[in-house]
Amino acid sequence: MPPDKEKKETKRIKEKIMLKTTLVWDKLTSKEKKEVFDFAEDYKNFLNGAKTEREAVIEIKKCAEKVGFKEARSSSAKGKIYKEHRHKAIGLAVVGKRPLVKGLKIVVSHIDSPRLDLKQNPLYEEVSLAFLKTHYYGGIKKYQWVCRPLALHGKIIKNNGKELDIRIGEDENDPVFTILDLLPHLARKTQYEKKLGDAIIGEKLNVLVGSIPFPDKEAQERIKLQILDYLYKTFGLVEEDFISAEIELVPAGKARDIGWDQSLIGAYGQDDRICAYSSLRAIGEISNPQETALALFLDKEEIGSEGNTSARSVFLEDIVADIFKQTGTPLDEHSLKLALMNSYAISADVNGALDPDYQEVHEKRNAAKLGYGVCITKFTGSGGKYASSDANAEYVGMIRRLFNQNNIVWQTGEIGKVDEGGGGTVAKFLARCGMEIIDCGTPLLSMHSPFEISSKADAYMTYKAYKVFLSKGLFQYK
Ligand code: MN
Ligand code: MN
Repeated sequence: MPPDKEKKETKRIKEKIMLKTTLVWDKLTSKEKKEVFDFAEDYKNFLNGAKTEREAVIEIKKCAEKVGFKEARSSSAKGKIYKEHRHKAIGLAVVGKRPLVKGLKIVVSHIDSPRLDLKQNPLYEEVSLAFLKTHYYGGIKKYQWVCRPLALHGKIIKNNGKELDIRIGEDENDPVFTILDLLPHLARKTQYEKKLGDAIIGEKLNVLVGSIPFPDKEAQERIKLQILDYLYKTFGLVEEDFISAEIELVPAGKARDIGWDQSLIGAYGQDDRICAYSSLRAIGEISNPQETALALFLDKEEIGSEGNTSARSVFLEDIVADIFKQTGTPLDEHSLKLALMNSYAISADVNGALDPDYQEVHEKRNAAKLGYGVCITKFTGSGGKYASSDANAEYVGMIRRLFNQNNIVWQTGEIGKVDEGGGGTVAKFLARCGMEIIDCGTPLLSMHSPFEISSKADAYMTYKAYKVFLSKGLFQYK
């Protein structure tokens, strides 16, 4: 064979049989590129409004109602329903043509993110400054939370039963709050000689909230008293009200574009609101699907899905029961179990992308990369697949074919090297119902930090992937 012909033939064979990954940007038409940037604007707005799980539920409900979803038990609900659970979890469903017992299609994401919660008795004074004590929630690197503007978001239940929602530090004219750090001049023994994880300890994550004393110079704890006086006069709060409150400290400020080309998004809480928003958009745009489509938005994933608003609660069963009633399907325990067992699900959660500066913790051939599309993760867990959810090859095959046939740019990725660490998602808690489930979401850099990075192209592909999954008949691939 002449050399140039041989070269061509090699290229043809390679093209045909070798696995390749594609940068989403290389695949997009100019029309799609515009869609990518438009989608990113909507997503950033969602992030700015939904900085806690409670705020996310409010935003999701607002978006859902705008596109015709109705409360599950209302008489006017017709094919598109939603159900809220304790203001911290919500599910949206679009009724499909196939009988429910043959299974639903479910995309499940979580709307809680790592943060600092206020303790129940948080306010104190030290060296004529007032502080709030915190207890961190989820996996944070504590050193990332000092010396940055923080906002207070949350709910307080007063003694008379009245509720107060607060959101302080997001408006330009609001004050912000912050955690102090030691000056480098004095940090040698107290911090530098320690391990990074011990240098800042949980009990020192105290938030500075004021410094003006109560006017009566004879009073004790004048700074604390002045803050309490302000809280009472402004919100009608007394110190005991903190006990029945859930106040979260999150990084203050809005989602931002990153880079000269503005191709990336930097924001707090993208784990997992990038998948939550993508699935919200996807389910909002489908109608009359083959199989009933369900988007679930759950809480408490970051602390192991513990609690009554988490993936371990019976919220899933309850919302599916409501869909049964909606569609006039006779509901008994066995049909409900069958419907769940025959379902196909995506655990819509982010994955850690290959970090250019710390490539040693990843296994390059099996790591997700920013910009290469939505990431399929066959299994999660750590060590010898401990605490894993491992999708069946048959199901991975179905998803792969579905994505390939619908021009979804996707990649596959495992979080890190085998013995390096690991993590899980809600997948294993839904898997207990017997359904097929696979992890599929957006890769992030600086994951779990106060400023996580995503690619606008990946966000768009995530939304496209969920939409294809929820709208196209999946059973043809069986
Ligand atoms: Mn997550
Ligand atoms: Mn997480």
